[in-house]
Amino acid sequence: MRRPGPQTCEAKVDGTWRSISLEEAKGVYAMAPKRCPACHGAVMLTGTLTAGAPRNLVHRVAHTGCPRDPKRYSGTSSLHPRALT
Ligand SMILES: [Zn+2]
Repeated sequence: MRRPGPQTCEAKVDGTWRSISLEEAKGVYAMAPKRCPACHGAVMLTGTLTAGAPRNLVHRVAHTGCPRDPKRYSGTSSLHPRALT
């Protein structure tokens, strides 16, 4: 079973959500809407502009039902209240 790692997110391209890397999220899909693959909440990227520095996905609106946000995760997965569709 492939466990979704922290290094992907989803971008809406031509009306379809597709899984992309964070490099793509900062590059070719910089202008596309992006969401969390787990809860579908809108996300943005953090991190420095230094090449090779780790980047992290951060929910624009905090959500306790997302395992991708372990600091806030309540232990029960649920869709984001403002999930992007
Ligand atoms: Zn999430």
